[in-house]
Amino acid sequence: MTLRQTKMFLPTLREVPSEAEIISHQLMARSGMIRQLVSGVYTYMPLGHRVLRKVQQIVREEMDRAGAQEISMPAIQPAELWQETERWDAYGPELMRLKDRHHRDFVLGPTHEEVVTSLVRDNINTYKKLPINLYQIQTKFRDEVRPRFGVIRAREFIMKDAYSFDTTREGLDQSYEDMYNAYKRIFTRVGLNFRPVEADAGAIGGKGTHEFMALSDIGEDTIAYCDSCDYAANLEKAEVVFKAVETNQTEEKSLEKVSTPGVKTIEQLVGFFGKGADSFIKAVAFHVDGQLVIALVRGDHEINDIKLKNMFDANVVTMASDEELIAHGLTSGFIGPINVSDKVQVVADIAVQNMVDVICGANEADYHFANVKPGRDFQIARTGDLRNIQEGDECPRCGGEILFARGIEVGHVFKLGIRYSEKMGAKFLDENGKEKPMIMGCYGIGISRAVAASVEQNHDENGIIWPWTIAPFHIHLIPVNVKNDEQRMLAEELYEKLQNAGFEVLLDDRPERAGVKFKDADLIGIPLRVVVGGKAAEKQVECKVRKTGEAQDLHVDAVLNYLNEKSAELIAECQ
Ligand code: ATP
Ligand code: MG
Repeated sequence: MTLRQTKMFLPTLREVPSEAEIISHQLMARSGMIRQLVSGVYTYMPLGHRVLRKVQQIVREEMDRAGAQEISMPAIQPAELWQETERWDAYGPELMRLKDRHHRDFVLGPTHEEVVTSLVRDNINTYKKLPINLYQIQTKFRDEVRPRFGVIRAREFIMKDAYSFDTTREGLDQSYEDMYNAYKRIFTRVGLNFRPVEADAGAIGGKGTHEFMALSDIGEDTIAYCDSCDYAANLEKAEVVFKAVETNQTEEKSLEKVSTPGVKTIEQLVGFFGKGADSFIKAVAFHVDGQLVIALVRGDHEINDIKLKNMFDANVVTMASDEELIAHGLTSGFIGPINVSDKVQVVADIAVQNMVDVICGANEADYHFANVKPGRDFQIARTGDLRNIQEGDECPRCGGEILFARGIEVGHVFKLGIRYSEKMGAKFLDENGKEKPMIMGCYGIGISRAVAASVEQNHDENGIIWPWTIAPFHIHLIPVNVKNDEQRMLAEELYEKLQNAGFEVLLDDRPERAGVKFKDADLIGIPLRVVVGGKAAEKQVECKVRKTGEAQDLHVDAVLNYLNEKSAELIAECQ
């Protein structure tokens, strides 16, 4: 595939669109890849569309290789299906709803568990037809609260979604592993610097879900990873290894109430008492499925409400309101675990239970207790891992050191189990004629988001630097002055030759100044460049690698060899 730039719909911009906060959004808009129609809704221009197609092709090849079958499900879905799974209410305002002319409710699919489960339920009823994995690459709709970062968080975006149906848990484990491995190959081939991370699977637990994170400072998720092994997990999920702190204290001090006027936060307490943050207990009141719970962590730790939710196997965890605090005899800013009503449950992070001589709120305005001893001065109903991991903590796998990085979620694999098949009655008859619910997994890739993540990772101050495998073209062929016959003819000759050699070439045949052409070329970021300029009469051209800037003057007869060699190097970077 080759193209002449004079014919291409490629409106580059010098100015950065005002809504573009991050570099990938700016570069994708400036290079003419995308145009915004309305907040979070974009047109893919020819250049952007070519990149999308390359990513889709890689995804298709790897999904097919893993044994998944491509289908194409409707974007319009009847509300009844969503009522069956109770997601009509649970999904909330992110769900794009619409009515047909008969006032029947529909949604624009944000995901396809309902549709695919009904499809399989209606067409498969025996173990003999299972397992099966169905996928599609399709436009999804989500009315995001805050569409931003261009196509990274859009309201209409392209996703690959796959759904596996198995007869046993072991079968699901296998399907999941196949997808996990396919995802590793996909993101490697796309050229992303990524990491699969363990994520929170709620009640399913265990290794029930991984997110594939493209590492980037603009990422919305924090990843805790180990500096010595391949352990990586989301902040909400990462397990904390408890290390007991040695104390040489022998004599027990008795509980003391201290006046602490206006001293509420840990920072204020540290200033007031002149002690380290680890000398305090931080207490936060939550509403856990209708019950009031005080969760305790050490003052230098952060409470993780997902872990709290998992501790109770709860459906909903929210911060307790001021009214609820008052109703339970608790005082905002001075909450503590001592002398609380028996309607309040006190739970604690593991690190709290053997703290000694600590300070905590007294449940009375402007007072704290000092010399507190958990177990003596108050009882803990449940103890467990309730805090966020911190940098410098021990790796739960190998004992190495935990570091933090930011990531953009480009893929997600999830063991659904029977959550949908049970609600929707997707059952099969096993070998003994017994009816059982199918065991499902779901697997998503943000195709359009992955393109933006790639730009976020691969650019310099002049523009994009595409990895070979997803570049819109391989070679940018630039005659400096198209009015010069020698240059034009040599460029045409090369255009033909490179095309025949299998390269995808963009020929900049525009009658523009050299500076404009080179600026646009840097912006668009095609991996290899061949410049036909002043030495065209001697059949000399300049070949340049966008990524390294390395340039070389070559005779036309040597060009093909050079390009083959360089392309092989660039391909190797995505393997
Ligand atoms: P996020 O936490 O970023 O909202 P999600 O957990 O809602 O993502 P999934 O439902 O797992 O996402 O969707 C599968 C994939 O689709 C995600 O891994 C992501 O790459 C992509 N994706 C999700 N929401 C959007 C969006 N608004 N715009 C672009 N891509 C998205
Ligand atoms: Mg989301």
